[in-house]
Amino acid sequence: MENVIIIGTGCAGYTAAIYTARANLKPVILSGTQPGGQLTTTTEVENFPGHPDGIMGPELMQRMQQQAEKFGTRMEWATVESIVKRDDGVFELKAGDNTFEAKTVIIATGAAPRHLGLPNEKELIGHGLTSCATCDGAFYRDVPVCVIGGGDSACEEADFLTRFASKVYLIHRRDELRASKIMADRVLANDKIEPIWDSGVTEYITDDKGEMKSVKLKNLKTDAESELEVECVFVAIGHVPNSSFLGDLVDKDENGYILQNPGRTSTKTPGLFAAGDVADHYYRQAITAAGQGCASALEAERYITEHE
Ligand code: NAP
Repeated sequence: MENVIIIGTGCAGYTAAIYTARANLKPVILSGTQPGGQLTTTTEVENFPGHPDGIMGPELMQRMQQQAEKFGTRMEWATVESIVKRDDGVFELKAGDNTFEAKTVIIATGAAPRHLGLPNEKELIGHGLTSCATCDGAFYRDVPVCVIGGGDSACEEADFLTRFASKVYLIHRRDELRASKIMADRVLANDKIEPIWDSGVTEYITDDKGEMKSVKLKNLKTDAESELEVECVFVAIGHVPNSSFLGDLVDKDENGYILQNPGRTSTKTPGLFAAGDVADHYYRQAITAAGQGCASALEAERYITEHE
């Protein structure tokens, strides 16, 4: 039986691992489908303290992994499908054919990119529909593309895509960006980026090979419809927390974010903690996720001590 199992290898998960490993708890960290979390899909991180010249997202995550492993964290590949807390207080985690047992569990599963919910979305992913400009931007050189959204992610993606695309349309449902002023100003000053305000995408249109050809747009103020030729659509409309596998072990808000006890990372189930974007719809920063990872490790350590 493990002292602590951490689910998720983003900033929260690795920080929890560093702290519990240094407390000699020999943590196990389970990595799912996106090792390293959301920072592995970004470029330069300029606001993580201690890196005055910035650091590439994937490198930052690799360094966190090395730091966690250096102190004795064991890493396993497993996507947890369900967790139960037995009558004897032990957590049982099912992941495919594997079962893990632990005294405490830290949920650090983060959040996944949200999509619009249009009918042919699933088939189009990898064929002109993506949520990751860093991963796919270079495939779309000298062709028009669009970004959907008006937050920091949408602006960052749009700005990055101007390195490759001939034109970047920024489609936003309102006439004002939600992004921070510095990002918004940068985007609005870029000649290659053309904002399309008050508009939503109502249909993805494909060519005869099933590749993205254009999008159907609706002006949400006038109801006017139009078609815009783009070879790739980058969706940046926020995220959905990865919390569905937890059943009744935790309470969640209306969007699926785990509710922690006030001022703590503990949840309604004693011994079960939540850290980072899976429980935070407000800050959603790498450094706040890392901070929560640290807090969850300290709370797990105290819980183990109190129950021994
Ligand atoms: P976000 O701030 O929640 O923005 C999501 C955007 O998508 C909003 O503009 C929203 O429109 C739009 N949207 C949501 N649902 C939609 C739908 N169904 N159809 C069309 N549009 C929809 O998300 P984010 O940009 O991913 O940023 C998340 C957090 O990470 C933020 O705290 C942000 O500051 C941070 N972040 C920081 C950086 C950086 O500092 N470099 C980079 C990326 C992200 P409305 O505006 O109308 O609500």
